[in-house]
Amino acid sequence: MESGTALSNHSKSEPYIPEYELRQEMVRIGRLIWERGYVASTDGNLSARLGPDRLLVTPSGQSKGFLSAEGLLVVHLDHGDVSRPSGRGRGQRPSSEILMHLEVYRQRPDVHAVIHAHPPLAVAFSIAGVSLARCVVPEVIVTLGGIPTTEYATPGTPEVPDSIRQAIRQYDAIILAHHGSLTVGRTLWEAYLRLEKVEQTAQITLAAHQLGRVRTLSPQAVQKLAEMRRAYLQRQGRDLCEGCSICVFGDDYELPVPQTSASSHPSSDEALVRQIAQAIVKNLKGE
Ligand SMILES: [Zn+2]
Repeated sequence: MESGTALSNHSKSEPYIPEYELRQEMVRIGRLIWERGYVASTDGNLSARLGPDRLLVTPSGQSKGFLSAEGLLVVHLDHGDVSRPSGRGRGQRPSSEILMHLEVYRQRPDVHAVIHAHPPLAVAFSIAGVSLARCVVPEVIVTLGGIPTTEYATPGTPEVPDSIRQAIRQYDAIILAHHGSLTVGRTLWEAYLRLEKVEQTAQITLAAHQLGRVRTLSPQAVQKLAEMRRAYLQRQGRDLCEGCSICVFGDDYELPVPQTSASSHPSSDEALVRQIAQAIVKNLKGE
């Protein structure tokens, strides 16, 4: 994906949705992400391309579960200014993360919709310092490649677009460290489905951990999935370099266990000693 694409570029294969329909769809998707618990309070923001130089965006400070179609704002892509809204949009400001949305559209002409949410488990993984980019779930490898986590950036500041600038060239779903998620798509529905997949990946990974261990897929299995991903991207008219946009290989891993009490959980030193002892015994047995 080329960087530095002009702001007003867009994929010719993606038709623009009539404004009335797009407003209705944004209200519907906002409701869905609120009902699914991917945002709380006034968190999150959505945007979509209205035309070559305009975006429809959610206003700041409103619950995404109770948006109104006429209250959504129109923002100009090239300078980020808001069209003078009338009716219920009057006096509203666009989302505090509008700069992040503008950065996505600047770099990705194929993207027509952006959703920023706060899916709790996915955010918890970043707070715990555990990556969701490991190769563990096959369909995530094919459809998303991987789910990278950015460096921490102060929400609502220019640090946020800076933090996603590199990753958004290759990935459609990104975790903003200690903060939330960024998912993009050709439509709001596609960006929503990717958000759903991010949170489900966190749920599956956490459940695997609770069952004892997170086992990553073998390099051979990942290689096959990477070929499927290349075909998937080609069908979308996208082309990525060899090895790009794919999950991270790594050993199986155990997530950190919370230390709630000395009696119910061994200390990290005890766990380490036990692991070392097991490794020595295995070695002695020639396993
Ligand atoms: Zn946020």
